[in-house]
Amino acid sequence: MPSIDFLLDGFRAFRGEYFERHPDRYGRLSSEGQHPVAAVIACSDSRVDPAILLGAGPGDLFIVRNVANLVPPYHPDRHLHGTSSAIEFAVRDLEVSHLVVLGHAQCGGIGAALDTVQGHPPERDFIRGWVRLAENSCRTALDAHDGDATACRADAERGSIARSLGNLRTFPWIASAEQAGRLTLHGWWFDLVAGALEEVDPDTGARLVP
Ligand SMILES: [Zn+2]
Repeated sequence: MPSIDFLLDGFRAFRGEYFERHPDRYGRLSSEGQHPVAAVIACSDSRVDPAILLGAGPGDLFIVRNVANLVPPYHPDRHLHGTSSAIEFAVRDLEVSHLVVLGHAQCGGIGAALDTVQGHPPERDFIRGWVRLAENSCRTALDAHDGDATACRADAERGSIARSLGNLRTFPWIASAEQAGRLTLHGWWFDLVAGALEEVDPDTGARLVP
């Protein structure tokens, strides 16, 4: 089994090189609390850490990570809504100005959704139900691409970002904040092969960030 020591070494390096050298930063974050400008809904994939990709520091981003960076529709009930509760805190309590859905290439969660709609659902207790949120996007991508698996998956990833943006707008306090100009929604897709970032707009399609 690989050792966990490299992470503890990492913490010691952080404490010596960052925390102790920048006492003001954590001092202020501690005394004034957090005031992040943006919240990001990102995938749990180990290759797509939003803070690293976007050059953000402590206090900059409120981050929700889940399988395939999916947002469910607004559905307040007695079930356990981890993603929706984090989004609610970011929007209603922290009053972030930007909400970003950050997807990526080679997403295993979207791969599982594609397998599911093709009749091969993952034999997992929770993933199978969760990735159903991406099934419509997967069907659309499969209809558009015949045989090009890489292009199909990328389109399914982009499509599910667009769908998550649509689902965010079903939350009444997100829709009202957006209409009032207090909140802007963004969809971004990270191509970890090319090292590129695309803006995904449900109305106009995808555009490469220069
Ligand atoms: Zn992913």
